[in-house]
Amino acid sequence: MTANLLDFDLEGLAAFCGQLGEKRFRATQLFRWIHQRGATEFGQMTDLAKSLRDKLSGSARIEALPVLSQHESADGTIKWLFDVGDGDAVETVFIPESDRGTLCVSSQAGCAVGCRFCSTGHQGFSRNLSTGEIIAQLWFAEHFLRKHLGQTDRVISNVVMMGMGEPLQNFSALVPALRAMLDDHGYGLSRRRVTVSTSGVVPMIDRLAQECPVALAVSLHAPNDALRDGLVPLNKKYPIVELLDACQRYLAYAPRDFITFEYCMLDGVNDQPAHAEQLVTLLRQHAGQGMRAKINLIPFNPFPASGLTRSSPPAINAFLRIVNDAGLVVTVRKTRGDDIDAACGQLAGDVQDRTRVVERIALQRNVRVQDIQRPAKEVSL
Ligand code: SAH
Ligand code: SF4
Repeated sequence: MTANLLDFDLEGLAAFCGQLGEKRFRATQLFRWIHQRGATEFGQMTDLAKSLRDKLSGSARIEALPVLSQHESADGTIKWLFDVGDGDAVETVFIPESDRGTLCVSSQAGCAVGCRFCSTGHQGFSRNLSTGEIIAQLWFAEHFLRKHLGQTDRVISNVVMMGMGEPLQNFSALVPALRAMLDDHGYGLSRRRVTVSTSGVVPMIDRLAQECPVALAVSLHAPNDALRDGLVPLNKKYPIVELLDACQRYLAYAPRDFITFEYCMLDGVNDQPAHAEQLVTLLRQHAGQGMRAKINLIPFNPFPASGLTRSSPPAINAFLRIVNDAGLVVTVRKTRGDDIDAACGQLAGDVQDRTRVVERIALQRNVRVQDIQRPAKEVSL
């Protein structure tokens, strides 16, 4: 089996080139061809010696993810569904704004955390994505969008690890992918513009601080443990105080001087004035210890199996006012891509129905549905 070069950050690629007897600067050239220019064939890489191109052809490949579908929303949001094999698929969403282009990237097929309000959580866990599968989402989107928008400059300025999956439960694949995003020879994104969102895997927050500090968003969703235990089951393992302590430690290494706290507004569950007051008290206690916070209220995006509904606009406004009047920084997230089910927590909508995904993969590959359900290597392409 040849190596997929999308699996490497620059260090990894340099080590791989070293095994081929090539110098480090060759790895840099190769990395630029792949990530900055979107090359897929070694033959395109005209400034590499023919002998190296031949060596690469025999030992390596640049393998993107097959696209199962693409939907474009009226507001310009684009959602892709990628085939990751064995009937699994993951989604990636591009969100254009006047001053930035944000890509929302998946880290796992499914998710093991099982949050009550999240469609991916209801789907269950299938497997971790590899580094190559994480970076392939950015690689594809960036180079597709340049062509689609007729642009030669970079289109994607921000990445948020807020697609399907819990990124900090796939740490070893995540970190090289983040490094490729940050690398000046890769996508050259600033640390402040790459955000890892986590439901609160405390030990991995500390490791991220050491190994690859980027902006951090924490999915809080509740101001006390009793409520959070029922919404984010991981809270039973890492309760709120431990999580906030980890956030505070993280700030010493973070590229930004605050942590973003996400709070999904669920009608009658966590959206009452008393919850807002508790949240203020909780975050103030930690602010006293030097932790700065920004709170992002996310109107819940409903899906049938959740049995939950979105908080009413007056409830969201009342909550916002209490938190804001207490002097904390708080915003309400605009929902984007509603018409194509690309909003937060709706990403698994298409994926959830495995049969539909399998049928689509079969159609695309021109094989029988029965063949798809066997391991990928047995499927003739
Ligand atoms: N697993 C990570 C990142 C992916 S989820 C995490 O939980 O942080 C990205 C964000 O979408 C999280 O804040 C999550 O709580 C939120 N989310 C999940 N389901 C949602 C839904 N149905 N409506 C609104 N936000 C949702
Ligand atoms: Fe997993 Fe995040 Fe969804 Fe929770 S909200 S189930 S951690 S993807």
